[in-house]
Amino acid sequence: MKLYYDHDVNMELLKNKVVAVVGYGSQGHAQAQNLRDSGITVLIGLRTGRSWQQAEKDGFEVVSVKEAVRRSDVVQMLLPDEQQARVYREEVAPELRAGQMLLFSHGFNIHFGQIVPPEEVDVAMVAPKSPGHLVRRVYSQGGGVPGLLAVHQDATGQAKEISLAYAKAIGCTRAGVFETSFREETETDLFGEQAVLCGGMTALVKAGFETLVEAGYRPEIAYFECLHELKLIVDLMYEGGLSRMRHSISDTAEYGDYVTGSRIVTGDTKKEMRQVLTEIQRGEFAKKWILENQAGRPLYHAMKQMDANHPIEEIGGKLRAMMSWIGK
Ligand code: NDP
Ligand code: MG
Ligand code: MG
Repeated sequence: MKLYYDHDVNMELLKNKVVAVVGYGSQGHAQAQNLRDSGITVLIGLRTGRSWQQAEKDGFEVVSVKEAVRRSDVVQMLLPDEQQARVYREEVAPELRAGQMLLFSHGFNIHFGQIVPPEEVDVAMVAPKSPGHLVRRVYSQGGGVPGLLAVHQDATGQAKEISLAYAKAIGCTRAGVFETSFREETETDLFGEQAVLCGGMTALVKAGFETLVEAGYRPEIAYFECLHELKLIVDLMYEGGLSRMRHSISDTAEYGDYVTGSRIVTGDTKKEMRQVLTEIQRGEFAKKWILENQAGRPLYHAMKQMDANHPIEEIGGKLRAMMSWIGK
């Protein structure tokens, strides 16, 4: 697999262009600030509200989404995925000109056909594989987070070069940028967050905590064992893979890891993972999420409330309040 690094990329292509960053949330603030520090001219496109004030406070010129599209060459769409189609239809599409580039950091709307741009514009993706605040923090420290790049539509013949320049400007080519497709990025991103990173992880943590508490152990101890220590373990995996983590834990822990892990994540779990992946690939998950939004998110709100009231959240809040070094 080809990886792109800083020395593979010419940023001149972007230097004479104006980039509109539409949205100033997790990714928007990070990408906009990295672009600016890389010498790129940035405009922020928003509706009036909290983000607008923040972006102005951070020294950016902030304008309406329409004006940002009108005055720019590259439009990076960093609105919540479920808002993008409507904002695109009402505020972006009417202002798009031939030869402009529409950029995304996630392939959802293009891959599932919610946004269908005209043929005369470039459509590409630069997706940092990281939460927004780290995109900014790591860049400020001289590093970068890895990224994915994909070209969906190349109207100018320069779509890949321009996207690579963008990836360099936000720091991704410092760590390495992989070329992918909208389909691969979208489906693997959804699967990863559902099965492993978010859905799988929170379910594992809650089940472990509940098992200990139901057996009569104190919630404070259960919290430390099942949630707090997770970060320390994941940091070791991040630095040196499974073996680095296993090198650092005790031999007892390592032996328990080998004999117990496959009793927790079983053949049935993997079978269900394949089912989850199939539903993502067929667009069934996307359809459900789009309908959920149209209905005002009844399930989303109910489940959010239920987990906010979980005992692990209550005890965690108390314990973290004593750990002054954990940021808010
Ligand atoms: P956020 O929810 O953090 O930010 C959304 C921004 O969009 C806010 O500034 C919000 O402003 C603005 N906004 C919302 N609705 C509108 C509207 N109708 N008109 C104008 N502005 C609006 O989004 P994320 O940064 O999480 O996600 C952006 C994209 O990045 C998505 O495609 C996501 O999949 C992708 N991505 C996100 C990652 C992450 O770390 N979060 C990781 C990798 C990719 P306001 O204050 O007014 O609400
Ligand atoms: Mg995602
Ligand atoms: Mg232990």
